[in-house]
Amino acid sequence: MHLAVVEPGWSLEAWRERARAALLAGVAPEHLQWDGDAQQGLALASPLPEAPEAQGRVTVPAALLELAGAVVCHRDPGRHALLYRLLWRIARGERRLLERATDPDVVAAAALAAAVRRDCHKMKAFVRFREGGGGEGAYVAWFEPDHWIVDRVAPFFAKRFAGMRWAILTPYRSVRWEGGALAFGPGAVRADAPAEDAQEDLWRTYYASIFNPARLNPTMMRQEMPQKYWKGLPEAELLPSLLRDAGRRVRDMAEREAQAPRRRIPARPAEAPPTDDGSLAAARVLAAGCQRCPLWEPATQTVWGEGPEDARLMFVGEQPGDAEDLTGRPFVGPAGALLDRAFADAGIDRSAAYLTNAVKHFRFQQRGKARLHQRPTTGHVNACHAWLRRELATVRPEVIVCLGATAAAAVLGAGFSLLEERGTWHQLGNGVRVLATVHPAWVLRQPAAAQGAAYRGLVDDLRLAA
Ligand code: SF4
Repeated sequence: MHLAVVEPGWSLEAWRERARAALLAGVAPEHLQWDGDAQQGLALASPLPEAPEAQGRVTVPAALLELAGAVVCHRDPGRHALLYRLLWRIARGERRLLERATDPDVVAAAALAAAVRRDCHKMKAFVRFREGGGGEGAYVAWFEPDHWIVDRVAPFFAKRFAGMRWAILTPYRSVRWEGGALAFGPGAVRADAPAEDAQEDLWRTYYASIFNPARLNPTMMRQEMPQKYWKGLPEAELLPSLLRDAGRRVRDMAEREAQAPRRRIPARPAEAPPTDDGSLAAARVLAAGCQRCPLWEPATQTVWGEGPEDARLMFVGEQPGDAEDLTGRPFVGPAGALLDRAFADAGIDRSAAYLTNAVKHFRFQQRGKARLHQRPTTGHVNACHAWLRRELATVRPEVIVCLGATAAAAVLGAGFSLLEERGTWHQLGNGVRVLATVHPAWVLRQPAAAQGAAYRGLVDDLRLAA
């Protein structure tokens, strides 16, 4: 019996080095104990030969490495052994093992990876920096992840907050961003992070002003924002009263007379039209001034697609919603948050996909201060189709996922029936494969008792594309 020690336990490199040594030495999974295993007899096990004694070449499929990168971050003590079992079987000839979705080892590894991705998503969504810790101008956040994910998520924060000095403290590990580099350190306690800062009153006022009671779904909200994270969120103290008053505010809104919509941003002075060099960037600038249909006038701005120009996977939704109209980015409102969660559960990396809408302006009906979503007409979809064609022709994805019936009709034609053809593959004339599923906003609109099943159906469809 041999013993393999992975230090630190969440390091993919450390696991790879030990797994490679074991594989080259011909140690079968049943004769190898990993330091995290809750097994007996570790003291009797002999260490593996060090890498220099076990030179050789091990070819590991990229899909296994990607899966292992997430699985090693899970707290399950059996994860290293599980990954080694997969590696051993693949090396012994089961080259397509990971494609067998019902294999118990594959199922177990996929479940661990999904849990880690979910935890990473929650960390990205619920970390709140507060000013004041670690010297002037530094921002510090406290977070309690379920798994060993700090090293995995830190590059995301480095990219997003590259221009500020920050630190994220967790019970097992901390990370700082200073001078353009990440530095990892030991864990901390909650008291090491500031509890409040001067910006929080401002943030709470803003949050209360954008909170839309007409869109409230308490069940989904609690699923999206579990209460264990509330203690780190400045806006959390507002939630009980906002939830309590939501019904009354919706009734007030409904009783008020509809008001003429107003533009929220004053028109910019006319500029010379940009030169169209055929690029996506030029199309984006041109679309910002588009007036092909009447939707541009009451809306705040054109919401163009987002994602890498060479993305292999493209998602097409219906139209921007209230939050998207205000921020100018697709899928950032409540439906976008649900889609992010579904991406995490389906194993899809949002940052590698291109997300857009069939219609680029928000169609709504003004009710008091609220703007209620209205479905775009066929005329709007047709008018906007040139922009979608431009995105399709430039990005040239291998797979398109249509979210909802409007998007499916825009991509696959007006005769498409989402009810009958949801989750089945189609092919465009240029060979691009297309799958249609429901829009995440449709999931949010389902009655509470049906939402779990609706959400699982969406994730199942997304897995087909993943
Ligand atoms: S919805 Fe599309 S076609 Fe209509 S104005 Fe906006 S960008 Fe132009």
